[in-house]
Amino acid sequence: RESLIESIKETIKEKHVELLHVQFVDIEGTLKNVTVTSDQIDQVVEGKTMFDGSSITGFTPINQSDLYLDPDLTSFAVLPWTEQDGYSEARFLCSVKKPDGSDFEGDPRNVLKKTVERAKDHGYSISVGPELEFFLFETDEHGQPTMRTQDVGGYFETSPKDYGEKVRLEIYKALKMMGFTIEASHHEVAIGQHEINFKYSDALGSADAATTYKWVVKTVAQQFGYHATFMPKPLSGENGSGMHTNISLFDIEKQENAFYDESDKLGLSETAYQFIAGLMGNVKDFVAVTNPLVNSYKRLVPGYEAPCYIAWSASNRSALIRIPATRGAGTRVEIRCPDPSANPYFAFAVVASAGLDGVERKLDVAPSTDADIFSMSQEEIEARGIENLPTSLEAAVERFANGEIGPKTLGEHAFGEYVALKRAECDDYRLAVTDWEVATYQAKF
Ligand code: GLU
Ligand code: MG
Ligand code: MG
Repeated sequence: RESLIESIKETIKEKHVELLHVQFVDIEGTLKNVTVTSDQIDQVVEGKTMFDGSSITGFTPINQSDLYLDPDLTSFAVLPWTEQDGYSEARFLCSVKKPDGSDFEGDPRNVLKKTVERAKDHGYSISVGPELEFFLFETDEHGQPTMRTQDVGGYFETSPKDYGEKVRLEIYKALKMMGFTIEASHHEVAIGQHEINFKYSDALGSADAATTYKWVVKTVAQQFGYHATFMPKPLSGENGSGMHTNISLFDIEKQENAFYDESDKLGLSETAYQFIAGLMGNVKDFVAVTNPLVNSYKRLVPGYEAPCYIAWSASNRSALIRIPATRGAGTRVEIRCPDPSANPYFAFAVVASAGLDGVERKLDVAPSTDADIFSMSQEEIEARGIENLPTSLEAAVERFANGEIGPKTLGEHAFGEYVALKRAECDDYRLAVTDWEVATYQAKF
């Protein structure tokens, strides 16, 4: 730790870091920060940065509002876009502590650490590789987002039709300088839609990376006059944006991927099948977390590569759970419902928790569905016993509020706050009269 602090101080000197952004996330996963001058570095690393928890969504009541930021020293990064001659800024990502030095249970990083511990008690570490898609929209003369997409390109579009190439290149450079390992970058299926992939990591590392990624994408896009959005379904009739979550368990003692079994016909271990069964059995109770917005449920409809049926398959992109072809150390399951508006800490926590539940209870998995579900008739879907995901936030939140996985994984504090927040959002939506209603009903009735 001491040598890490020394090297951070050296970088501060070398790069002329003047400002430090001390960051954390609220219960929606929104990045927050307080900025201090770099001569406060000792205070910062000692965890003495205080803030008002009552002003943060889902944190503390006003009478217990003092909270402290405990930086993860490995998250220190100079922000490439601030670098000028003799000037730069840097950031730390933090966990939140109470005045008595204990972990604040409402902090999403602390919440995820609990599930990581639970996996460890079974001898596993959790590897997560999320894939976050986003749209670029043009901004107007006031810098506000418009509904004009940045280009009309499609899947794997090349220049000159892919207007996003330059922006993605700059995002790539910024992320790389901040310590990311970037694996791929491409135009996605929808107009103005993109994806940049980074290497998988442990669950907490990947949630930190997803949070940083969203911030960097938005920041760099803005410099090009675009607004980057992680809203799940900005355009009706076009693909939405997913945050497919690749996940596997790693056996700490044997030092090997716990999902791989050479002798199985699909190359999957008993643990992998139980994990899949846990995901399938619990998914209705956790989609309120992985798909947190009213808008999220407009993405989970047939025909747009997003799942709406609870099924798994080794290949099928219409299924909720897909097993990517890689075996050996890279064996993993990909759950396709999460979208990038989710709080990544909570999302990875509930997904891992659901899978672990299957392992703990040694659940049997239903047969896989390898045919295209989107082209099946309703009768066939029912005959196969394939169920639907909840079709609205309201339905999802009620499942979550009454299920077991929420309180077990988020803990009482974050669970209660999250349910209250999402119920209020549903109520608010119910009161809104939308453009669709006016267009459909005004003239007709
Ligand atoms: N955009 C699709 C979704 O909503 C996913 C496309 C893909 O397979 O990458 O999940
Ligand atoms: Mg994609
Ligand atoms: Mg994918």
